[in-house]
Amino acid sequence: MTIDILTHQQWQFFWAFLAGLIGLCVGSFLNVVIWRVPNNMSILKPGSHCPSCKKPITNRDNIPILSYMLLAGKCRNCSSKISFRYPCIELFNAVIWVASVFLIGLHVYTIGFLLFFSGLLALSAIDFDTKLLPKKIVYVSGILLVSFLGLSVLITGDFHRFIDSAVCALAYFVFLFIIWFASNGKAMGFGDVRLAPFLGAAMGFFGYMVSYMGMLISFFIGSFVGIAIAVITQKGRKMKIPFGPFLAAGTVLAIWFAPWISEWVQGFNV
Ligand SMILES: [Zn+2]
Repeated sequence: MTIDILTHQQWQFFWAFLAGLIGLCVGSFLNVVIWRVPNNMSILKPGSHCPSCKKPITNRDNIPILSYMLLAGKCRNCSSKISFRYPCIELFNAVIWVASVFLIGLHVYTIGFLLFFSGLLALSAIDFDTKLLPKKIVYVSGILLVSFLGLSVLITGDFHRFIDSAVCALAYFVFLFIIWFASNGKAMGFGDVRLAPFLGAAMGFFGYMVSYMGMLISFFIGSFVGIAIAVITQKGRKMKIPFGPFLAAGTVLAIWFAPWISEWVQGFNV
């Protein structure tokens, strides 16, 4: 007789639902991080307040998405407009968390990926705004990821996965360092090079090929968008496009579709 109350699939839906709710709240916190970290402000003090009238935001006005809709995107006190990006980041983070629960599955390391992906979302938004990837966020989200990967490996004994991670971390770092060095920092900033080992470690956990595909996806989307922007904004005009969001997107997509990538690659070896 089994004592399972729910089937695996039902558990997955349960955790995905919970991840969606927590993901919204984490998204709300990311909005604070995205605004405050590049401005060298504390992320803890003071509490959330309206940037226009400085009035503290009460708990009932701080519910992700819902408060924005109930307030019709305006501050309750001074009626100044609240950026539409706030609910977008909240929703985007929740979608990433729900998709990750379904695509990565229910493992200890999944928690590490959820936190790391949230870090990448904050970094992408900051890179978009300021063309910088703050060290603090890179290291905090990277160390969280590596800790959960390590914990998972200790539980399961899959030490080869940790070695694959380390090899891909080094390879991605060296590869982006060479591009950065050879282009005199024009092709990408050193922030991208600093982020690279963590991206490599994340993808390498699923094997060398997933890591390689993630890199290809990043460079492919990056060049495609780069060319599209150059065409739209009149060719010849030199526009600086942040590369961080593309590195992040390629990494997340490669990890989400890791089983399919591995299966596809194995098809060539048979
Ligand atoms: Zn206000």
